Parts: sequence; C-alpha cells; structure tokens
Amino acid sequence: MADKIINLQYTTIKDPLPDFIYKNLEKYSQEANSYHPQPLELIERLAERHQVPKEMVYVTAGCDEAIQMFIHAFGERTYTFTPTYIVYSDAKEFGNKFTELYSLNNNKFDISTEKIKNATLIFLANPNNPSGFTEKCKVMELIENNTHAKVIIDEAYGDFAELSVIDQVIKYSNMAVLRSFSKGFGMAGNRIGYIIANPEVLSVVKNKAQWSNVSYLSIGAAIIALENEKYFENMRSGIAEVRDDIMDFLRSNGYDFLPSKINAVVIKFANEMKGTIFFNYLKDNGIVASHGNGFSNIGLDKSFVRIAVGNKNQMKKFKESLQKL
Ligand code: PMP
Repeated sequence: MADKIINLQYTTIKDPLPDFIYKNLEKYSQEANSYHPQPLELIERLAERHQVPKEMVYVTAGCDEAIQMFIHAFGERTYTFTPTYIVYSDAKEFGNKFTELYSLNNNKFDISTEKIKNATLIFLANPNNPSGFTEKCKVMELIENNTHAKVIIDEAYGDFAELSVIDQVIKYSNMAVLRSFSKGFGMAGNRIGYIIANPEVLSVVKNKAQWSNVSYLSIGAAIIALENEKYFENMRSGIAEVRDDIMDFLRSNGYDFLPSKINAVVIKFANEMKGTIFFNYLKDNGIVASHGNGFSNIGLDKSFVRIAVGNKNQMKKFKESLQKL
C-alpha cells in the first residue's frame, strides 16, 4: 500500500520542521513586501556562529545555487572526487570540462591531495555524500597544493561532523566553504544555504546569481532556527544515534558498508547482481533505497545501495526486513 512505503532514497530529514518555525514567521511575512538582498540580520548571525567577518558570508538558495555560481565563475575545467554528489556534474551541462577522480579504496573514501595541474575548479564534499569523509589536514593539503584553482569544500552536512575548515578560509583566496540549512536544520524545502569565502572571491561569484536570491520567509526560518540551535543539535544527535545503530547492525550481520558521518549509509555488495537483488528485496518489502547513483550521486555502480537514515520506527522496519532475508 502506498501509505506504508518507507522512502529512504533521499538524505532529507524525515521529521517535519517544528511548529516554532512558522509560529515566529509573522514579521518576515509582513516585511516580505520588499526585497531583502543579503539581509544583515542573518549574515551577522552566521558570521558570529562561525567567527568570521560578515564580509565573508554570502547567502544562497541552498548549496546547489552556490555550486552553480562557482561553476559559472570558475568552472572551465572542473574536477571532483567520486563517488560524490551529482550537482558538481552540472559543470558538464554548462559546457565545461568535467573530470571525476575515483577515490574509493577498499570501501574507504580516500582522496589524493596532489596538485591537479589542469584544474580551474575542484569540488570536495566533506563529509561526503554518499559516504566517507576527509580529515581536515588533508583538506588543507588539497587547498595548498592547488592555489592555481578554486577549491570548494561543500560542507552541506557540516553540522553532522567536526571537520569544518571554515576557520582556515580567511587565509586562502583560492578556497570557499559551502553550508546549508537543508540537513543540519532539516529545512531542505526552504532552499537556504551560504558561502564562506574571502570578499574578492565573493565579488566574482555573486554576479552569477540573482541580486535578491533568497525568499525572505526562508531568511526568517533560518534566523529562527539559529535562535533555537539546541533543538537542532538534539535532532542531529538523534539522527547520528540511529545511524550508528544501523552501522552496528550491518556490521554484526556481515554486510560491507562505507563508514558514514552523514544521515545515510552505503552498503557494498560483491557485484551488481547482488546489489540489485538486495535493492529489489527492500522494494518488495516497502522500503525504497537508492541504487547505484540513484538520483543524487555520481561514481557508484549497481553494487552499491544507499540507505538514508530514517526515523527510529522506519529503521526498525528496515532491520526487521533484513533479518528475514
Ligand atoms: N551538497 C551535498 C554534498 C549534498 O548531498 C546536497 C543535498 N543532497 C547538497 C549539497 C544540496 O544542498 P542544498 O539543499 O543546500 O542545495
């Protein structure tokens, strides 16, 4: 039955946004009669949150908009480390050269930090989607070895891990960090994120977006969320707990999987046929996973199945299904 289907295809947060968000939106609704490009009230909060000057913060309609802005500004020869997030491959759609550097080694996401001679733009998701992560010192090695290119660290899941390199941005004019309210604050539908970069970098990329690019209601939702960060900290630790429980379960049942710091786990099967059988088994049991690249990754073949972390009840059903397999 359609209403019983558990959709674990996407890494959006499965719980609805708390009511205190919309209950406090009145002022933003009233003031939405005018444009609010780059509103100081949010920028100042973000600058304080990350301990950076406010001139280094630029608000975007999610990380996706920021990714496209960087591609438009610098993307002539774009590189990324795969498997990873699909939107970096928009570089190809916009007529640029796009190169994938396969970086899985024994089910571990392990990037090379060497100079990529030809690159004008390099994307690294950290923590990575579908899985894996790069230690902070390696991220900095990549940036230092590639001063001829712009290196973009996509921290869309940054609130789930202690890996952020935001504190380094002030020293490097060839880097930027992207952050999002979609995951750590559970509001993907509000389309709000931000870039942290030096003003000379921002002055180039900002011309690649609309001048007033984010809805004022979304700005309001982000401010209210930041005023209630404790709620979201609890939400994140709840998700991490469920994820770690799923990883323990998979480990003790003999599954190979990629260690994860985000709200998804990738299971690796011996071959594409085994991956397909597992994916179909889940589907027959009312659980939709992401098979191979699904809709949001590049660089995964069909021997990989990605499970987004659902709520406790959904994951209980997932475990029960696996126990019957
Ligand atoms: N970057 C990565 C690595 C992602 O996985 C996602 C969402 N799936 C995004 C960016 C998109 O973020 P936003 O909703 O802020 O555009």
